[in-house]
Amino acid sequence: MSDLTRMSAADLSKLITAKQVSAVEVATAHLDRIAAVDDRVHAFLHVDREGALEAAAAVDRGEITGPLAGVPIAVKDVVTTKGIPTTAASKILEGWKPPYDATIVERLKKAGMPILGKTNMDEFAMGSSTEYSAYGPTNNPWDLGRIPGGSGGGSAAAIAAYEAPLAIGTDTGGSIRQPGAVTGTVGAKPTYGGTSRYGLIAFSSSLDTPGPCARTVEDTALLHAVIAGHDPRDSTSINQAVPDVVRAAQIGKNGDLSGVKLGVVKEFTGDGSEPGVSAAFKESLEALVKLGAEVVEVSCPHFQYALPAYYLIAPSECSSNLARFDGVRYGLREGDDGNRSLEEVMSLTREAGFGPEVKRRIIIGTYALSSGYYDAYYGQAQKVRTLITRDFQSAFEKVDVLVSPTTPFVAFPFGSRTSDPYQMYLADLFTIPTNLYGGPAISVPCGLSEGLPVGFQIMAPTMADDRMYRVAAALESAVGTLTPPAL
Ligand code: GLN
Repeated sequence: MSDLTRMSAADLSKLITAKQVSAVEVATAHLDRIAAVDDRVHAFLHVDREGALEAAAAVDRGEITGPLAGVPIAVKDVVTTKGIPTTAASKILEGWKPPYDATIVERLKKAGMPILGKTNMDEFAMGSSTEYSAYGPTNNPWDLGRIPGGSGGGSAAAIAAYEAPLAIGTDTGGSIRQPGAVTGTVGAKPTYGGTSRYGLIAFSSSLDTPGPCARTVEDTALLHAVIAGHDPRDSTSINQAVPDVVRAAQIGKNGDLSGVKLGVVKEFTGDGSEPGVSAAFKESLEALVKLGAEVVEVSCPHFQYALPAYYLIAPSECSSNLARFDGVRYGLREGDDGNRSLEEVMSLTREAGFGPEVKRRIIIGTYALSSGYYDAYYGQAQKVRTLITRDFQSAFEKVDVLVSPTTPFVAFPFGSRTSDPYQMYLADLFTIPTNLYGGPAISVPCGLSEGLPVGFQIMAPTMADDRMYRVAAALESAVGTLTPPAL
């Protein structure tokens, strides 16, 4: 394996800028690595060798400069890329080539970052294991018989397997952080509205948040800075300066947390987590105390209702968003033989094009939104959402950030949670409250349990993304990064 694939984005960028290595060489090394290992990992649904090399050559010709110019990246397949197949891992979008780029993709291109390809995921970002991809699961580089998390398992696995130094994910209920946790990589969900949703195939519009995935906290921050910032094409985009996450990550590296108050959520410390996960979390917390941080227990009494509220709000929004896949406008069309009504064609298309989890959510969401049940389900869930937001607000009056394990269990074997949807939903027990509130959160590797990675989650107030990066970088300086076994 080429050494270039083992390097951080920050180091690659330095080498490229100093012309010690060309961007084409860096892109080639990663494309070769993909060719060598991706039949086993299956992180990618589509590889764009030609496009990546062309973008790299433009950097080498001096046409684009900047902090990450020439550093290649993988993009989750729920993000539109002009002319490059975008399927959201669904049969219903098989072969669809978007006519436009998502704003975040435009920003990657402007920054001179070659796009290696599109990564695998749970269909329409619904799931926690990538087992719901219509194109087969992604395998965790730590143990190919285990899940890489989800929905962004492909992005996390691509980084962990050294196929890409950086990747884009999207986080609606934990799909950046939980895959980060179980693959031993870093993943950040920015403040909702801090990164543009324009060009994101919508799942749950009030929750969807694109964000960065990387192997180090500094790399995560560098990518965050490239994609974040106001976008007039997204009506929920925040029109404010982006917090200086790169500087925060660099300050955090010094490992000084004196005066920083970490809130441990009382409701998350029960027996919800595997013992090995709790142990790694506690050890890391002690490491942060050694760096000067103070630990305060805080109560967030409504967090226990986050999962049920999420599983009404997200399906409700998805049932509306996914109505556009009707066999007329995009992708698949079934049964259009000239003898069937429009309604029959739509129904046959949706029956053939959507997988089981997507159908389950559409049915739940349609039910929850139906007149007569709206107030009882969707309306109640929205009230719970407000209470959870208030829990966060009052907690942040006492502490700077909240901390918890990212997910209650390490990477599980394939097939062990698909028979009971609730068991799968539990993967996001600790990540979902943040999505309902809208604040930023990051998962950082914090050790191993039974030989598999454990993630440490840091949650901050809205638009205080820099604060979480500072604590995350300090944690990384204390516990180090994780290296998976050779593939
Ligand atoms: N696992 C959660 C779900 O299935 C979160 C998904 C996500 O963040 N996209 O809805």
